[in-house]
Amino acid sequence: MVTTHNLGFPRIGAQRELKFGLERYWKGESSRDELKELGAQLRARHWSDQRGLDLVPVGDFAFYDQVLDMSFTLGNLPERVRGFHGDKLDNYFRVARGRSAQGEEQHAGCCGGVAAGEMTKWFDTNYHYIVPEFTAGTQFNLDTSNFLEQLREAREQRVKAKPVILGPLSYLWLGKAKDGSDKLALLPRIMPVYRALLDYFRVMDVEWVQIDEPVLATELEPAWRDAFTTAYAGFEERGVKLLLTTYFGQLKENLDLACALPVDGLHIDAINARDELALAVQKLPAHSVLSVGAINGRNIWKTDLNATLEWLAPLAQQLGERLWIAPSCSLLHVPVDLASEARLDPEIRSWLAFALQKLDELRILAAALNGQRDAVAAELAANAAAIAARRQSPRVHNPAVKAALARIDAQLGKRQNGYAARAEKQAALLKLPAFPTTTIGSFPQTAEIRRARSQYKSGALEHTGYQAAMRAEIERSVREQEQLGLDVLVHGEAERNDMVEYFGEQLDGYAFSQFGWVQSYGSRCVKPPILFGDISRPNAMTVEWIGYAQSLTDKPMKGMLTGPVTILNWSFVRDDQPRSVSCYQLALAIRAEVLDLEKAGVRVIQIDEAALREGLPLRRAQWGDYLRWAVESFRIAANGVGDATQIHTHMCYSEFNDIIASIADMDADVITIETSRSDMELLDAFDHFNYPNEIGPGVYDIHSPNIPTEQHIVQLMRKAAERIPAERLWVNPDCGLKTRQWAEVLPALSNMVAAAKTLRAQAQ
Ligand code: GLN
Ligand code: ZN
Repeated sequence: MVTTHNLGFPRIGAQRELKFGLERYWKGESSRDELKELGAQLRARHWSDQRGLDLVPVGDFAFYDQVLDMSFTLGNLPERVRGFHGDKLDNYFRVARGRSAQGEEQHAGCCGGVAAGEMTKWFDTNYHYIVPEFTAGTQFNLDTSNFLEQLREAREQRVKAKPVILGPLSYLWLGKAKDGSDKLALLPRIMPVYRALLDYFRVMDVEWVQIDEPVLATELEPAWRDAFTTAYAGFEERGVKLLLTTYFGQLKENLDLACALPVDGLHIDAINARDELALAVQKLPAHSVLSVGAINGRNIWKTDLNATLEWLAPLAQQLGERLWIAPSCSLLHVPVDLASEARLDPEIRSWLAFALQKLDELRILAAALNGQRDAVAAELAANAAAIAARRQSPRVHNPAVKAALARIDAQLGKRQNGYAARAEKQAALLKLPAFPTTTIGSFPQTAEIRRARSQYKSGALEHTGYQAAMRAEIERSVREQEQLGLDVLVHGEAERNDMVEYFGEQLDGYAFSQFGWVQSYGSRCVKPPILFGDISRPNAMTVEWIGYAQSLTDKPMKGMLTGPVTILNWSFVRDDQPRSVSCYQLALAIRAEVLDLEKAGVRVIQIDEAALREGLPLRRAQWGDYLRWAVESFRIAANGVGDATQIHTHMCYSEFNDIIASIADMDADVITIETSRSDMELLDAFDHFNYPNEIGPGVYDIHSPNIPTEQHIVQLMRKAAERIPAERLWVNPDCGLKTRQWAEVLPALSNMVAAAKTLRAQAQ
């Protein structure tokens, strides 16, 4: 008999109950007890959803983030909140977001606001965790309260609980040594706490513990590999069984290491590393369990169950009881329930599986492997039919798109001339002053804008009314920018709800869910659009809005687009072709839009690639391949224009050191980036590389309500000019302004324009 289990369940709730509960509590609209009760209800519901599995995860629930929960279990709170009193949950929120609930008068003097914990991306997903903080002096102390509560609840519900913990090496690896000390030096101090935790589980009658070590899917330095051996040797005496769990990639050179660790089982992500299963079978000790992640925990497609059984059945034969099956990784990264999607096109819906449907798939696989193939024959046949329908559907396959893709050649992504020649023509046409000023695209999304959009969506507002409302907003933005004296204007993006969804909605090949929310961080969720078919652009998408905006002013108006790589990286994408192919298709669609904008007389076009960096593969060895097709996709989208058309790109992050050559390869005339908080140090990468084109380093931190002074902006720009020749510098905010208020934006931009004038005067 094979064992079925799950690695983690989406905690946010099918209707985002946790999000709303958290936000009520933070606003002071509900009590802590109500929030705790909601947590217990969600856990109970999710365990009941997972009923029928042999083992269910416990401890995968978190009010904010599972890594932060682990920090609390290990007693590793950042220095700045130690000594805080009051409820533990409040302290937890202080670490996560700098503050707990509103109206905590009792603690205003002692535990008020603190700096929020740093957040960063969880491997190559769009989930963000709170980075554990260390110093050379960090001490750890076991706190079992979280597990005590959850294990007790699980027992009451009679589910077979498998606690999930982040293993010691991954925990240390994901954290940050604030004093630059060696994190591995903490291993001897953290291990006794892990051992005590395992002892505690034994006392709680736990049989299996899932110990996650996702770093085994990355390239590890020798010291870290050695540390695995040392650390896990320390687990040898224990009363519970350990399932060493890896996901998100192949183990490669770490496979031998993983198989040799003294644990009771190994989980391998068979979506990414199916070819390593056979080797693992050879290398694992004879008693060891092999857990196969046979269902993709990160996408929303149905599994081809019959094809899966074809390779899984021989493994089951070979391993017998030692075979376990599960999703490839925690289901945290997919929405909860497809059954909520009543409005989704039924044909597309029939190709999809969300978390609950994925667990059904797991049960079907198990039944088939356990000799009950007849009992699930109908399900298997239905699955085969759905898979075949998707494979052949004309909605997925568009011969014209495939033909256009086949015509892509080395010339398509090339500008007619190099930057120097282009810059001359652009200068003659645009006649911009030194230190030209611009913004990144969006202006405040006011309550009126959101109301008009939602009324339009619900049908309460007809097209002409909506269009008039948006035009009024565009006009307002243009007038404000003229008043401010900005040099290159934008239309303000009032008509866009989201920079990816807006384009997805206008492209063929995209579908949208209603409740397909996935946690991004804390209470924040995203609803990635579903790229299901060959991408084409039936109509121009932005030309009308930009044309209208340009008609209101003599200043150059920037056309604003989202780039192909960012659209790809923020969508659920096809699993039936390489990501690169979907990306090239998006590139051709955006290219057509760029050319239409140019034809309409737009002279400056910005193509945002906010998410280019986050698509980097986990393993460095694979970076080159990704960067090659990602950069080529951008070039195809952007570079069909004439020399005099100025192409901008924008990226909302700051680390460029390791990808600067690829950034330069994109060959945008102007790149705007986020730099204000780093005091321009981030420009070092551009400086050392001798970045050849123009740069707009952000001088206004749009994540903060603070208004930068003119003097501060002048200072930042002077620092920038130490690194980049002044004639190639632009003056602009870090990112779009849609989350800010007009009352903040106007004085900030006014200071920015004043700073540019001061800089120009000084340059003369
Ligand atoms: N043009 C977009 C905006 O201004 C860019 C947003 C982003 O980079 N995330 O909103
Ligand atoms: Zn940005």
